[in-house]
Amino acid sequence: MRLILLGPPGAGKGTQAKMLKEKFQIPQISTGDILRQAVKDNTELGARAKTVMDAGQLVPDDIVIGLIKERIRQGDCKTGLILDGFPRNIAQAEKLSETLQDMNLAIDHVIDLEVDEGEVIERLTGRSTCSECGTMFHRVSRPPKVAGVCDGCGGKLAQRPDDNRETIEERLKVYSESTAPLKEFYSKQGSLKTVEAKGSVEEIFSLVCEMIE
Ligand code: AMP
Repeated sequence: MRLILLGPPGAGKGTQAKMLKEKFQIPQISTGDILRQAVKDNTELGARAKTVMDAGQLVPDDIVIGLIKERIRQGDCKTGLILDGFPRNIAQAEKLSETLQDMNLAIDHVIDLEVDEGEVIERLTGRSTCSECGTMFHRVSRPPKVAGVCDGCGGKLAQRPDDNRETIEERLKVYSESTAPLKEFYSKQGSLKTVEAKGSVEEIFSLVCEMIE
């Protein structure tokens, strides 16, 4: 099964992708995670990406498309994949279609997680992420058992540098200008399914599963 998760920052794409990965045993491919890892590793790519990410802008298409092409050719993607945070604009979506076509593959479902702007700001400003395993917590809705420590792996929790009010507003602007048009793009192809991303993580997960099973 090949899936794309769409939705604004804070819609829960990463959380749902991790749950889908466990359930269906297919890889989660998050361009945001790949780029953050490159920043952490101080690579040349990381250095190029960091300023753009910290400003809430999109990393240039050639970079992310290159990353995705390389990633989806790896052996573990033969059984399926979950794209989380890619594509982010029409040009990326077109390149993705071309790449998959060349490999005789196609996307089965595009799940759009819908959430309103006020909720997104509340979620992102209260969010902290494990610096080791990437699990996400929230000050109010999902507090860690021990402050600052990941329940799962004991890693240190940190706020993402782009989860501050000013950058969140920029990310939302970029989302509505560049990423939201993908809903129409995939709707025309007949693969778009919309899930109202309200309620608990588990409730949203069961709605997502209903859409794809
Ligand atoms: P995310 O973790 O998906 O919220 O992504 C964090 C940041 O990484 C974004 O705000 C962008 O700066 C960058 N990024 C992630 N995915 C993409 C993509 N597909 N195209 C361009 N930039 C991306």
